[in-house]
Amino acid sequence: MDAPIHFSADGLTADLIPISDLIVPVAVINIAARAAENADTSLTPDDIKAWEAKNGRLPDGCCVVMNSGWHKLVGDPRFTGNDKEKKNHTPGFHIEAAQFLIGERNVKGIGVDTLSLDTGLNSSGAFPVHYEWLGSGRWGIECLANLDAIPESGARLFLGIPKVKGATGGPTRAIALL
Ligand SMILES: [Zn+2]
Repeated sequence: MDAPIHFSADGLTADLIPISDLIVPVAVINIAARAAENADTSLTPDDIKAWEAKNGRLPDGCCVVMNSGWHKLVGDPRFTGNDKEKKNHTPGFHIEAAQFLIGERNVKGIGVDTLSLDTGLNSSGAFPVHYEWLGSGRWGIECLANLDAIPESGARLFLGIPKVKGATGGPTRAIALL
């Protein structure tokens, strides 16, 4: 888990995130078919709107999770995504999706099944989603597993982040309940 302070000067540390922000509805947006063709793809506002056209408006206070299919690649070189030129190719959130969720919806967190909230190409310096999303006081969670086992709508997510004083984030037991 990335706490807000991970990419902001004065954001909340992991131990100060209220419990009410850690037990939330979860919306799973599946871009796996597109990611299988293009590892540099990202979750966009259009993906969010397509999810809403099918499932209704995102529930208040939810976590929006990208299911890129990458959780099935653990142990495969594609999981880390490094090419021979040391460029990284993994899916992530598009900055415009983060901005849409901050400005137009009430969302507590975003999650991915890759190593980074940002795409791999944006994870070697720029980190636009990390800066804007965590800088807005919201949290993120990475390396989520078993996303095909939960429905795209209707589950709740519990994040068991250890209460370590001053932590910028840390390993988290992420549990979805139906
Ligand atoms: Zn991160």
